Amino acid sequence: MRLVKYVLTKENNFANAFKTNYMREKRVIDKKYRVNAMIMDKQKEFYHTNLVSCECGETKLISRMMRIEIPCSHIYSMKKKFEEIPENIKLVISKDDNGLYLNYEVTEIPDVFADSDITKKLQNKAVKTIRRFSHFKQDKVIQEEVSRLQINEEFANGVPTSYHEFVAAGISKHFIRKNKSNETTVIPPKDNGTSN
Ligand SMILES: [Zn+2]
Repeated sequence: MRLVKYVLTKENNFANAFKTNYMREKRVIDKKYRVNAMIMDKQKEFYHTNLVSCECGETKLISRMMRIEIPCSHIYSMKKKFEEIPENIKLVISKDDNGLYLNYEVTEIPDVFADSDITKKLQNKAVKTIRRFSHFKQDKVIQEEVSRLQINEEFANGVPTSYHEFVAAGISKHFIRKNKSNETTVIPPKDNGTSN
């Protein structure tokens, strides 16, 4: 019964809540625009912004959620206006009581950050971690291997799983090589003038 009451209240308040949320989003965008005014042009170039599209993805999710096109701060900086809210907004609650269904739509957000910058950072981090735990000191060799590390679609602890794979493989590989190096010459001798 409480759930029914809750749903009914939500239904009644929906239009107002929607307006409040929309106004808040508008303020957020307007603020972003003013805070970033100095670098707006650079950002617009980076995100290939034009009047109808921008690759920043800032408002993609919220626009889909609210079913109203909210311009990102970059498009807003060009248009200087927001869309009016449609007159009669209504929450439609399905009366189907056979179960709880979750409907979701896939929203594509361009991963403009998933390129070189973050990849480089991850690769550097991987080199350091491998070096530290394997005690293998030849960064160049590790770098060479790690240069194939790319960001994949799965994440664990906030980093791509490909990172963990490379680090684990790197540590075990070089750890073994280091131990063996006393007997065999797997590692080329360092160029520090102490050749025999
Ligand atoms: Zn944008």
